[in-house]
Amino acid sequence: MAHVLVVEDEPNLRVLLGRLLTNAGHRVTAAADGSSALQSAQSEAPDLVILDLMLPDLTGEEVLHALLTAQPATRVLVLSAVTEVDRRVGVFDCGAADFVAKPFGNSEFLARVRARLRGEAPTTPNTVARFMSGPDFQLDLQHRELLMGDQRIELPQREFVLLAHLLHRRGEVCTRQELLADVWGIDFDPRTNLVDVYVQRLRSKLSANSIETVRSVGYRLVAR
Ligand code: CA
Repeated sequence: MAHVLVVEDEPNLRVLLGRLLTNAGHRVTAAADGSSALQSAQSEAPDLVILDLMLPDLTGEEVLHALLTAQPATRVLVLSAVTEVDRRVGVFDCGAADFVAKPFGNSEFLARVRARLRGEAPTTPNTVARFMSGPDFQLDLQHRELLMGDQRIELPQREFVLLAHLLHRRGEVCTRQELLADVWGIDFDPRTNLVDVYVQRLRSKLSANSIETVRSVGYRLVAR
């Protein structure tokens, strides 16, 4: 029997998670905010922590950081409606063992809990976990690598975030303005061809025509 700490401020979901895990044979402790989660984790040393990112006091990232600083061996499965690529990548960088997006299926959730309790790294190509899929490649969010056939290509930070953003909006046109804001945090016209330069760099690593130019607007990652 494993001991699982559920950190979730939404009462219905906290009860549901508790019930699911208890029925699956685990012992469950629940916390409704970040500081009580840290207290419980310290006093009870759970085998697995299910952590929501949007909490009333601390952010999930702060809890994750504090938790892993104090108890580096703790396994943390982040559960969140937050779908922004950057934040998803961020929790893996902070040491999370897995990320499950809300809404989730109960059996999928329990399968991921079992796998994390066994100490397995998430490997399923899954749009809500470690990998994002492109037309003929995958992006490994945990290792910031581009996977093409047998090749693994490590991407520099900006190229990685740019590609992740294009993937997230796959099939849709991303304007230069949007890319500047979301990838570089620039909300004014820098009067440079920054975006174009980085798109060229990505194109040199991807198959031809993976990223289409939409004239005088921006770029689109093909949906095929
Ligand atoms: Ca929440």
